[in-house]
Amino acid sequence: MRKFVKLQDIDNVAIAVQPVKAGEAGPDGIVALRDIPQAHKIALKDIPAGGEIIRYGVCLGYAKEAIPQGDWINENMLDLPVPPALDDMVFGTKLAWNKPDVPVKTWMGYENPDGWYGGTRNLLGIHTTVQCVTGVLNVAVERIRRELLPLYPNVEGVVPINHAYGCGVAINAPEAKVPIRALRNLVHHPNFGGEVMCVALGCEKLTVDMLLDPEDNIPENVIMLQDIKGFDAMMDAILAMAKTKLEKLNQRRRVELPLDKLLVGMQCGGSDAFSGVSANPSAGYAADMLVAGGATVMFSEVTEVRDGVHIIGERCVNDEVGKKLAAEMRWYDNYLLNGEVDRSANPTPGNKKGGLSNIVEKAMGSIAKSGTSPIVEVLSPAERPSCHGMIYAATPASDIVCGPCQLASGIGLQVFMTGRGTPYGLAAAPVIKVCSRNEMKAQWEDLIDINAGPITTGEKTIQDVGTELFHKIINVASGVEQPFAEKYKLYNDLCIFNPAPIT
Ligand code: CA
Repeated sequence: MRKFVKLQDIDNVAIAVQPVKAGEAGPDGIVALRDIPQAHKIALKDIPAGGEIIRYGVCLGYAKEAIPQGDWINENMLDLPVPPALDDMVFGTKLAWNKPDVPVKTWMGYENPDGWYGGTRNLLGIHTTVQCVTGVLNVAVERIRRELLPLYPNVEGVVPINHAYGCGVAINAPEAKVPIRALRNLVHHPNFGGEVMCVALGCEKLTVDMLLDPEDNIPENVIMLQDIKGFDAMMDAILAMAKTKLEKLNQRRRVELPLDKLLVGMQCGGSDAFSGVSANPSAGYAADMLVAGGATVMFSEVTEVRDGVHIIGERCVNDEVGKKLAAEMRWYDNYLLNGEVDRSANPTPGNKKGGLSNIVEKAMGSIAKSGTSPIVEVLSPAERPSCHGMIYAATPASDIVCGPCQLASGIGLQVFMTGRGTPYGLAAAPVIKVCSRNEMKAQWEDLIDINAGPITTGEKTIQDVGTELFHKIINVASGVEQPFAEKYKLYNDLCIFNPAPIT
C-alpha cells in the first residue's frame, strides 16, 4: 500500500495516505520533521519564503516563511495567489479528450410528453408559490403518502417543492430572475412526468402566473388556499387533485432509452485532499463514459471552479461558451465582492482538517469531476441545458443550494463526492454518494455507495472505480438499484438560490 501520493512530476509536495509520525520515512527517503495528519502535505523540497507550493502541477500558494524538506504544510503556511484573469482567457485550445469505451448504451427510464430528458423516477411533484402554504401542504402530503400512494403502485413517491421564497422578496429586482427561473424549471422536472400541480396562497408576490406557463395555469392544476373555506376543505381539494394526477402518473412505464435521454449532475461536499486523487477523478472517468455514450453531465460550484477556470476555458467548444463561462465567474466575483468576501471564504474547517489548505487546492480537486471531454454549454444558475455532452452549470458550491439548482436544470440523478462525509440527499432525484478514502467508507458503510479510497492506497485505478460508478449510475437511473440516501429517504430542504434582496 502506498504511503504518499504525488500527482505531477513538478509537484514539490505529496500527501500522506495515513498519518505520519515525526522521524518516519517519507517519499524518496525524506524524513518527516513533524507529525503529519492523514491527507496533509509533506514538503518534498526546501521551499524558500515566498516560494511556490505546487500540487496538481499548479501553484496552490506562496510560502509565508521558509519550509524545510520533510515539514508538514498546513493551511496557515500559504498566501493565496490571485485568481486566474478572466479577460484574456483562451478557449477551445484543448478539445481532444480521453474517450473511454462505453459498455452500455441504453438505460430504462420514463419518457416524457415534452420529449426532453427521461425520468429516473416516477414522482408526483407538488409545486408551491410561497412558503406560507408549506404547513398545510405537508399535512396533505402525509395523507397522500398514507392513503393514496398504495393505490398507485407505479408511482414512486410524492415530492412537495417547499421553499423559502415567494413573498417578502423584491420580486422585480433584476436578480429575482434566478429563484423564479429555478422554481419555474422545477415544474418541468423529468421525474414529474409532465403532470402539474400547484398549491398557492392568494396574496403572495410570486403569483401563479409567474410560476406556471400559461397552458399549465388552469383550475385543474392550481389550488388557491385563500379561496377555500377552512382546513378540511383544503385537505379535500389537495387530495382530490393529487388523485387525478396519480391516476395519470400510474400509467407511466419504464422503457429502454438511449443514453442521450439521461441527464446527470455532479457535485462534491465535505471534500478533503483525497477528493482530487480518488473520488472526483473517478467521477470524471464515469462522466467521460457517459458523455462518450451520448449522455449529458453537468458540474457546478463556481467558487470551486474559479481557480481552475483557465483549464475549463481551454475545453470550451467555442468562444460563445467560453465567454459565458467568464461572465458567470465575473458575476460571482462581484456577488462575493458586494458581500465583502472573496473565494477564500469557501473552505470549511472540515476541508482544512482534511488537508485542503485553500480554495486553489480545493478547486483543482473539484474540477477533476468534469473528466476530459469538451465543455459544450455553460448555464446560468437553474437554466435548462439545450445540448448534450459535458455542461458547466454555474451554481453556488453550497451543497443544499447547488442541489436544487441542478434539479431545476433537469438532472435525473446526482453523483455526490465526499471526503469528510455528509448524509445529503434529494427527494426529487436519487443521489449516489462516492467517498474519497477507505476510512470514510468504514465509518459510514451504510451511507456511502461507492468507495474510491482504494485509488488513494494504490489498490484500484481511477478506471476501475470510474467504471464501477458508471454502472451504478445506469442501475440507479434505471430503478434497478437504490442508493443509500434514497433507501433511507434522506431529503435535504430545497434551498433556492436568491441573490436578490428580501424585503
Ligand atoms: Ca457542494
